[in-house]
Amino acid sequence: MSKVETVPMLCDQCAMSLPPRGCTSYGVCGKDADLQSLQEALIYGLKGISAYYYHARSLGYDDPEISYFLASALYKTLTNVDFSKENFIKMILEAGRIHIKTMELLDKAYVETFGAPQVVEVPTGTEEGHGILVTGHSYKPLYELLKQIREMGLEDEIKVYTHSEMLPAHSYPKLKAFPSLYGNWGGSWVYQKREFAQFPGVIIGTSNCVQQPTPAYANRIFTTDIAGLEGVPHLEGDFTPAIKRALETPRLEKKEGGKLVTGFHHTNVLPLLDKVIDLINEGKIRHVFVVGGCDLPNPKMSYYKRFTELVPKDSIILSAACAKFHYNNRNYGTIEGIPRFMDFGQCNNVYSILVIASELAKRLGKDLNNLPVSIVLSWMEQKAVAILYSLLYLGIRGIYIGPVLPKFFTPNVLEKLVKEFDLRLVGDPEKDLHEMLKKGSSVDEGSPVFTS
Ligand code: SF4
Ligand code: SF4
Repeated sequence: MSKVETVPMLCDQCAMSLPPRGCTSYGVCGKDADLQSLQEALIYGLKGISAYYYHARSLGYDDPEISYFLASALYKTLTNVDFSKENFIKMILEAGRIHIKTMELLDKAYVETFGAPQVVEVPTGTEEGHGILVTGHSYKPLYELLKQIREMGLEDEIKVYTHSEMLPAHSYPKLKAFPSLYGNWGGSWVYQKREFAQFPGVIIGTSNCVQQPTPAYANRIFTTDIAGLEGVPHLEGDFTPAIKRALETPRLEKKEGGKLVTGFHHTNVLPLLDKVIDLINEGKIRHVFVVGGCDLPNPKMSYYKRFTELVPKDSIILSAACAKFHYNNRNYGTIEGIPRFMDFGQCNNVYSILVIASELAKRLGKDLNNLPVSIVLSWMEQKAVAILYSLLYLGIRGIYIGPVLPKFFTPNVLEKLVKEFDLRLVGDPEKDLHEMLKKGSSVDEGSPVFTS
């Protein structure tokens, strides 16, 4: 793996920081660049865990072990508390363990609050009526909005659309039960400025990833929950201003569009696992690819589009999070009734994929590293960092990450990760795929890798 160009360390967190900007190569306290890198790496993981934990807590789900870990891990990064790099590496892996607990808690919160997800086809066209477009990860405000539209007797007048990470809302029975929840508009957050401008109705941002609006829609966007935008009204609980504003915006016309399939979850995939195992044993499913993560405005994201296009027809893809908008609108077909492409939802739904992978390993009597399973991640921000730490905590080797390496790892820290976990940067999709297909599989090196 090629090393990243890193800037010298930068720490300005205490009064001993050196002028003009802070300690940039060695701390007055004795901290060096590698320790600073590990502390930052830990803090970014904590931010990711906090995002998941926030959503669980918003729904009333709590775990004192997670709270204690967040406090103690942050405390460790104060000035003059812990100078042991080994301790920070252990703490990063512990963050991975805690993140699995957090993802499990959030999944429980979602399922108990909104019902177990069901596989659904989501329209991408539009329905006649005024529109409200909801983006982000927070299902709770979406539920409140749908309820208030019902209470105001406006379910025929206003249709609600999901954007980006809100797409899987359609798979939760208690959200889907509202007739005003209609379809999905657009792709990932990366295109939101263009897609929000094209949407004629009101937009509500509920969490990350929301951006400052352009003038084209600045007068019809609101935030709620954790999200906030400069100069944009923020709603807490009462969505009347957004609903009233929607009634002033132009109506959408009925327009047919394609359908996106989402809603895979361990509760609806585990019953298929015996069949998947039979198909693996019969050589009819050669490989399982977990391709998921964030989208970002980087031309290198084309890697994931091409990679999923190349995946052989006797392999399946499990996906989650917003990079999938590069490749979720294809018809992947099935292998003897097993869908070749399964969308598990948001980055907040990754837990399901871990449950399935662990169960597959258990039933095949192999460890995760010896399964015919490869993981290809795209990362943009700290939620994906926390997921990466969970995979490392599980001891999974050979993960491909991209489209770029984290710049918060110094070359030394990166080298350690590569050595211990065989962490790889995505490169050429054909070559990477060829390499991945060798794993846990009896594919003959000389045979054509790409079947049609
Ligand atoms: S904590 Fe250490 S490295 Fe950071 S500003 Fe203070 S003295 Fe410098
Ligand atoms: S997957 Fe990452 S980039 Fe995409 S919406 Fe979730 S947090 Fe944001």
